[in-house]
Parts: sequence; C-alpha cells; structure tokens
Amino acid sequence: LVPPGLKNEPIKSFGKESTVDWDLLRESIIKLTDNGPLEIPVIVGDSEIYAASSNRLVYNQHNPGNHAQILANVTQANAEDVRVAVEASSAAKEAWLNTPFVDRAAVFLKAADLISTKYRYTMLAATMLGQGKNVYQAEIDCIAELVDFFRFNVKYAQELYSQQPIESTPGVWNRAEYRPLEGFVYAVTPFNFTAIAANLVGAPALMGNTVVWKPSSYATLSNYILFRILQEAGLPSGVINFVPGEPNMVTDELINDPRFASLHYTGSTAVFLNLYAKITANLTSGKYRDFPRIIGETGGKNFHVVHESAAVENAALNTLRGAFEYQGQKCSATSRVYVSESVWPKFSQILLENVSKLIPTNTSAVKGLQSFIGPVIHENSFDKLADVIDQAQTDPELEILYGGQYDKKQGYFVQPTVVRTSNLEHDFLKREFFGPVLTVHVFKDAEYESILESIDSNTNYALTGSIFANSRTAIRLAEEKLRYSAGNFYINDKSTGAVVGQQWFGGARMSGTNDKAGGSNILTRFTSIRNVKENF
Ligand code: GLU
Repeated sequence: LVPPGLKNEPIKSFGKESTVDWDLLRESIIKLTDNGPLEIPVIVGDSEIYAASSNRLVYNQHNPGNHAQILANVTQANAEDVRVAVEASSAAKEAWLNTPFVDRAAVFLKAADLISTKYRYTMLAATMLGQGKNVYQAEIDCIAELVDFFRFNVKYAQELYSQQPIESTPGVWNRAEYRPLEGFVYAVTPFNFTAIAANLVGAPALMGNTVVWKPSSYATLSNYILFRILQEAGLPSGVINFVPGEPNMVTDELINDPRFASLHYTGSTAVFLNLYAKITANLTSGKYRDFPRIIGETGGKNFHVVHESAAVENAALNTLRGAFEYQGQKCSATSRVYVSESVWPKFSQILLENVSKLIPTNTSAVKGLQSFIGPVIHENSFDKLADVIDQAQTDPELEILYGGQYDKKQGYFVQPTVVRTSNLEHDFLKREFFGPVLTVHVFKDAEYESILESIDSNTNYALTGSIFANSRTAIRLAEEKLRYSAGNFYINDKSTGAVVGQQWFGGARMSGTNDKAGGSNILTRFTSIRNVKENF
C-alpha cells in the first residue's frame, strides 16, 4: 500500500533558491478572499445545512492579522443537527468497517496527494489567512505534517494489522481481529495546527471508526477545505461529520449519547479536565456499555536548559525559534529557559540581538508573506497576553529584557517578549501563556542539579523540554532528573517541531494522555481487539 521507504513530505525551500510559487500563493489568497466570506455549512451524513436556508446561528471567522476581514460565515449546528450527526455516523459504521483496509487507506493516501499537489496553495492560503501563520509555518503544518499523518498512519496501521498471535497448535487457528470501537469518536480539534485536526479525525476513521468532528471556530476555514478534499478523495458520507457549533452544547449532546466511544482531543488542559470529568460522571452513572477511550494532548510549560558546556549560539537560536515561531502558539513552544551564569552573557547577546529583528506583521498580507512573526489568534488570547505583559511591567520580581508592546488596532499583534526572574518559584516559570512570552532564569553553574530538580517539580505539565550541553555527564543527569518532566525530550535541539514518524509527539502528567501522535501507538487506541480461536 505505502511504498517501502516512505519518506516525510519535503518542505518547499524559502531561501534564495525558493521553490515556492509566489504568484500562485498570492492568487490563492486572493481567490479565498475576493468574493467575500465563504459560506460554510454543517455537514452530517449527506446533508449540508446552510444558515441562509435554515434558522441556524452563524459565527464568523476573522483574519487575526486584519480582524476587520471576515473570511467565513460558519453555520452552527443546533442540537438536532448534532443528534443527526450521531445517527449518520451509526448508519455509516457497518459499511465502513467492512470496507477493506486498502480502500479505507486509499481515501487518506489520495487526500494526501491532493494536498501535496492540486490543493497545496489553497491549503496554505486558508491556514495563513485564518490561523495567522507565515508561509513557512503553514507549509510545515497543513502540507508536510498533515500529509505525513495520513501516509504514516496507513503504514503503521498495516504493521499493526499484521501482528497476530504467533502460537497456534495443530488444528487450531488463533487470530486477532482489529475491530474499530463500538460507537462513534468525538474529535475536538484545535486552531493552531490544521495537521492536528486532520490526525484527530483521520486516525480513528482510518481504523474503521466513524467520527463527529467539532472544528475550532478559529480554524474552520482550513478545516472545511480539508473536509472537502477528503470528500473528493472518496470519503463516504457519514464517516466523518463536520459539526461546527457551540462547544458545550455539542459536547453535551455527544457525550450523553450511549454510543459515545471515544474523545480525541487537542486543546487546553482546563477544557480537557472538564470533558474528562463529564465523561467519567456519565460512565459511573452507567450511561455507556464501554469504557470510553479518552485521548488528549493538552498544555505545556516547556523548558530549555542551557548548561555551561553548551554550544551557546545553537542554544540561543533554538530558543528564539522554540519560543517565537508561530508566536509561541504551539503546545510545545519554549516558554522558560534556564541558563548557566557563565554562558549567559553570550546567550543573552545572541538572543536579544535576534529577537529585535522580529517585527509582528500580517503574515497573509502580500508584503508579509515571509515575515517571521504574525498575530496571535484572537482577541481573548491577545487580552490575556496583554495582562501577562502588564504584570511583567509592574512586578518587582520581573524584568523585561526585550519587548513588552502590544497593539490590536488592525490585528492581534504581541511583540515577542523576554522576561527575566531570579525567583525560581515565580508564577512566570509555571503558568502556560500560549503566546510569545519567554521567561528566563539564570543560575550559578554549580546549581545545575538543583535547577533540574526545580524544573521537574514546579509545574505539573510534562510536554516537551530540551537540554543544551556538550558534557555527557550533564546530559545524562538531565535525562535522569527530568525523566517524567517531558514526553518529548530533546538534546541540543529546540522543544518544538516534532516530525511525524521521527519524533512521536505527546506529553504526560497534565499535558495529556501521552498516546503519541505521529507514531503507531495511537492507532491501537482506536481499535478494540477481538481474539478469535477456531478449531478445525
Ligand atoms: N507537534 C508540534 C511540535 O512538536 C506541536 C503540536 C501542538 O502545538 O500541539 O511543535
């Protein structure tokens, strides 16, 4: 199915020898915006419900870099639509699970090819406009990572299905049947990665499940285009149902249905805890026949540690990228860095010199296509970050080393900001901000071990983290002391940028259930194995 030696989708080059078709990118951006907002329906089974011909509410998706621009008018599902989505997913289930794996896989492989070729620039344009990404970050997300998820999941599923009980005595045939879960999967997908949305719906569907998908209201445009591409690739109706809507209502309708089998979630820890609590309350009151599979990737307070033996320039430039690429709106973004005193002068010089080159701009505007820093996603996020920065201006335990400006007149722009504290217990070293604010702590070289202990104990997040060191002893000590502090641990690299098939992604503790997107493990969560013993 998948050719042997499957490789990651290559990323277009953006340097002098650029392989990006800039004219096509500009045209694609104009095409998506010139006719005014796109009308996006609810899609359940084979019915498409548009607000214009029904009495549904609408939400608008804006361009966060130019918030006066409305990109899409999105029809919101009402409670009846959500119930119809469950019926549609039940009706589609039997045929889909009986569809041979090669045919299910073909849908995702074809969608991957369509995205990598025919729709490459449409996907880029939608992700840049709606989610405030520059072209490079968009390419990594909605092309490379998305396509990789679809292709690598097929490879991993093939491998999984081929695992069978080894032992069969004469006259006996033992076999494992990889059934999908009984019921439907509820996918709650985030704004920050179009690829994550694709995996949250695609992985369970590939394994024969049917899915009800609530896209993020800040990413509905790119998510909807992805849905249309899946349809073009042959996705039968009802297998994935597209249900934008008010989150609490959609959730309550879905998890109160006894056919609810699994939550596949990426987003904040607070929302995940709330969903977890609601689901377990239903479980203990006897609502379900199964233990639902609850799979979540949530927040982080990801760290870099720079040891005195580190290659300092590498550490500083990776910290810059980890903290500020995509405005720090990655679950994996570097948000605290602990630097050894002896390397701090050089580290800070490189970091501060380079951060001052980052000027926030509307990344989807023609002139801003390649700019490093764009807007944060919405006003609420902007306001929270403004509060964080205001606190940094006034708190005597915090010193702003760079940044501290914000402006929402045209777009939600927050200047990359570097804050220093000498208080190891400061809230800025513990709280997730999900934006371009990096907190620094400088420690005495001899304190290295106790700094590692403090990193491990001062938050309950455990998503990603990095150690920069050349000393083998220092690296080994960090691996030991930080064993449970990160699900993705990097040595001499930034805390962001996991690649499907190369770094399986996910954290433990309050950062999620650590089921590892981009690896094979997660697919087992969407199967419920029946072991069959047959005597001849
Ligand atoms: N997988 C991405 C990375 O490694 C982050 C995903 C997220 O933000 O949830 O940077």
